[in-house]
Amino acid sequence: MPRPISAVIHLKNFTHNLSVVRKHIGLAKIWSVMKADAYGHSIEQVWKALSATDGFAILDLNEAILLRDKGWKGPILLLEGFFQSEDLEIIHQYQLTTAVHSNWQLDAIDKMRTNSSISVYVKLNSGMNRLGFNSCEYAQVIKRLISMPNVDAVTLMTHFANSDVATGTDAPHQTLKPFIDGSLPICAANSGAILWHPDTHYDWVRSGIILYGASPSGKWQDIADKNLKATMTLQSKIIAIHGINSNESIGYGSKFTAKKTLRIATVACGYADGYPRHAPTGTPVWLKGTRCSLLGAVSMDMLTIDVSEVPTAEIDDTVELWGQNLPVDDIAEAAGTIGYELMCALAKRVPVIYEK
Ligand SMILES: *Cc1c(COP(=O)(O)O)cnc(C)c1O
Repeated sequence: MPRPISAVIHLKNFTHNLSVVRKHIGLAKIWSVMKADAYGHSIEQVWKALSATDGFAILDLNEAILLRDKGWKGPILLLEGFFQSEDLEIIHQYQLTTAVHSNWQLDAIDKMRTNSSISVYVKLNSGMNRLGFNSCEYAQVIKRLISMPNVDAVTLMTHFANSDVATGTDAPHQTLKPFIDGSLPICAANSGAILWHPDTHYDWVRSGIILYGASPSGKWQDIADKNLKATMTLQSKIIAIHGINSNESIGYGSKFTAKKTLRIATVACGYADGYPRHAPTGTPVWLKGTRCSLLGAVSMDMLTIDVSEVPTAEIDDTVELWGQNLPVDDIAEAAGTIGYELMCALAKRVPVIYEK
C-alpha cells in the first residue's frame, strides 16, 4: 500500500470558477493565469477545464510550448516578457504575446527580422516598483513600439500591488489613466481587482487565484459570498490513535502540552508533502464533518490532531488538510502565508488524482 496521502484536483471547479469570473467582468476578456504550473495544479492536466478562457498567461517559454503542443490555438501571454533576445524567435514561431518592461527588450524587438511581427503588452510601473516603465517615459515607449514594423499590436498593461484593499487601486489607476486614449486596449486587473475594482476591468483581465478558488486577500471570509469552489483537496488518513494524559506533550520540541486527557490521532501528512511547518496548534483539520485542531509541531511526514470531539474517529479515516470542506486560505492564514503559496508548494511526492 502506498502512503495514504493524495491531492485531488477538481477539474469541474475550474470551469465553474471561470464562469464566475466571466460574470464579474462584462465584455472584458480573460487571461487565465497558469504560472507556476497552474499554481501547483499542472498546466497539462487543467488547461482543458479552462478552455473557455480567452487566453492563458504564463511565465516560461516551456509552459507556452506545452500549451501549443497540447493543441491550444488561442492567445498566450508571457507575463514577465522574454529573458533574452533569442527568445523572440520562439515567441514569433509559437505566436505568443509578450510583456515588455525594459529598454533592452525594445532594442531586441527592433533588431528582429522584419518579416516577423509580434504582439506586445507594454508594462507601466504604477507604483509596485517590480517591473515596468515609469510614467515619465511610458508615452515615448508606447510611441516607439507603435512605430516598429515588427510590432503588430500594442496593449497597455499594469499590475496592482494592493487590489485586495478598498482604495488600493486608486493611485496606480490614476497613474495609468493619462495613457488611456481609446486607441490601445488596456489590461490591468488581477483577481483582487476583478472582484473589488470593476472600474479597472477594461479590455482584458488577468485572473489567477480566484480560478483556483482561493482569496486574493488571503482571507477566505472575503470571498465567502463569491461562489468560488476549491480546485485542490489535500487529504490523507489517520494512521494511529492514542490517549494522552494531562501534562503529556506532543511532537518535536514538545510544543504542545495537554491540559486534560485527550484522544489524539496521527495523520500521514507533513511538511515534506507541502503542509506548512509553521502551522501552529489550533490550525483546523477536517475529519468527518468536524474541524479538529492541529496539536504541536508538524513533522516531515506526520502531524497530530485532537479527535477528542470525534468519538467515532478511527484508524484509516480520511482527513482533509485543505480543500472542498476546509478553505486553503484558513490553513494559510494560520501559518502566516497565503493560499497561493500552499498550492504552489504541493510536494512532488504527493500522488495527484484528477477528478473529472
Ligand atoms: C500572478 C499574476 C497575476 C495573477 O494574480 P492573481 O492575484 O493570482 O489573480 C496577474 N498579473 C501578473 C503580472 C501576475 O504576475
